[in-house]
Amino acid sequence: MTREELWQIVLADLELNLSKANFTTWFKNTFISEVDDSAGQIVIGVPNAFTQAWLEKKYHKLIFSAIREAHKNPIQKINYRVETKKQALKNVFENVPKTAKYAKEKTKPQQAVASGDFGLNSKYTFDSFVVGEGSALAHAASMGAVASLGKRYNPLFIYGGVGLGKTHLAQAVGNEILKREPGKKVLYVSAEKFTDDYVRAIREGKMDDLKSKYRIVGVLIIDDIQFLSGKEQTQEEFFHTFNELHQRESQIVLTSDRLPQAIPTLEDRLKSRFQMGVITDIAPPKLETRIAILESKINDQAFVLAPEVLQYLAANIQTNVRELEGALNKIAAYNEFYNVELTMDVVKKVLSSLEASSPQTNITIRQVIDTVCEFYEIKKVDLVISKCRRREIVLPRQIAMYLLRTELNTSYPTIGEEFGGRDHTTAIHAFRKIKEKADVDQKIKGEIEMLKQRLYNR
Ligand code: ADP
Ligand code: MG
Repeated sequence: MTREELWQIVLADLELNLSKANFTTWFKNTFISEVDDSAGQIVIGVPNAFTQAWLEKKYHKLIFSAIREAHKNPIQKINYRVETKKQALKNVFENVPKTAKYAKEKTKPQQAVASGDFGLNSKYTFDSFVVGEGSALAHAASMGAVASLGKRYNPLFIYGGVGLGKTHLAQAVGNEILKREPGKKVLYVSAEKFTDDYVRAIREGKMDDLKSKYRIVGVLIIDDIQFLSGKEQTQEEFFHTFNELHQRESQIVLTSDRLPQAIPTLEDRLKSRFQMGVITDIAPPKLETRIAILESKINDQAFVLAPEVLQYLAANIQTNVRELEGALNKIAAYNEFYNVELTMDVVKKVLSSLEASSPQTNITIRQVIDTVCEFYEIKKVDLVISKCRRREIVLPRQIAMYLLRTELNTSYPTIGEEFGGRDHTTAIHAFRKIKEKADVDQKIKGEIEMLKQRLYNR
């Protein structure tokens, strides 16, 4: 098993034990930096000191037991270290002990880690769901599905934007059913997992295993069903799974980021199946609901916030509930370490300082230029120095200038300087031009996104 694979398994385990917001807040950009089996020691790389302190203090036990379970050799000690993946690679190459042997590890078949056999996170219950105007119908329909299993609400189809509580509600259905009927066979999976299982079953010739996993359950919950878009074979398999379950009146719950009709390249027969039961949407919570959600989440925290601070958070974070939770987590972390009164000023500072520190800032002008040249397959001299006005050169040149401005905040005169001593007005012109184009031209927009990805994953 490679370090990446090990960390993937550990993360999968942690994800089941944490709320989504906590999971993404604290485990984004973490990785295993070192595994020293002879000393029984593992070093985990983290993006900043804040995260380091937080993991050490709050999640050490959880991480420790997840690693112990996933790693074949006993681990005595885990250290956390602030570093980027790139630094870690460098360390590995520079510190190879002379005697180190790269014996090939025998890979044990690794079982998917799921605590509890149902794939459910026990935090997602009806109790912990705050009902607002936008979610009242979805909430009622979910309760309805529990009350008349397999009948009227079959399937129950919940759709809505990201972070609005689709997964929460779908899992609440599963958890509630288990509470009422502990013996019930409930299965929650993402559509992605279903697809993986299907592909593996085909490859390994184990279709019977797949069928006995999915077709015998009493309740099947599939999250983010839009993921099946364009996956014909998986759709075919899901179609038969659906029919068999539906005929037997097993309850089916599906979530999606859009209506069945709006999922591209989804077979018509599936679209019509999805509309056989009840379709319900979740809309973003209004201000009052956002405040109520914050209040409910704060109950689990070891701090209080003045009403005007709550108001401030709810008024300023409007996109979705996940971000509201993320903000609370940051404040909780700050509170735990500095133990100061959480005034409005402190809260504002916490939120803004953390936002500013999240993107990687160690990218250089050179790297931007190199990345653009590689991407468009043009020579550096052509991009930087030549006065060539051909479109194949001019556009990448302008995009490079644009990226220097947006990603590195490089000044216009410096950009001009870097590009063969051009005038700063050239840089300004390039920036404006690309900014305009990116708004209307999907291709350019996409290319800029890809360039950014390459830059940050170098
Ligand atoms: P989605 O699946 O729609 O992207 P999630 O169900 O993962 O969103 O919700 C994101 C986070 O917000 C979760 O931690 C969830 O518990 C929380 N959340 C969303 N809506 C509510 C709500 N109405 N009440 C309480 N928590 C909520
Ligand atoms: Mg979800």
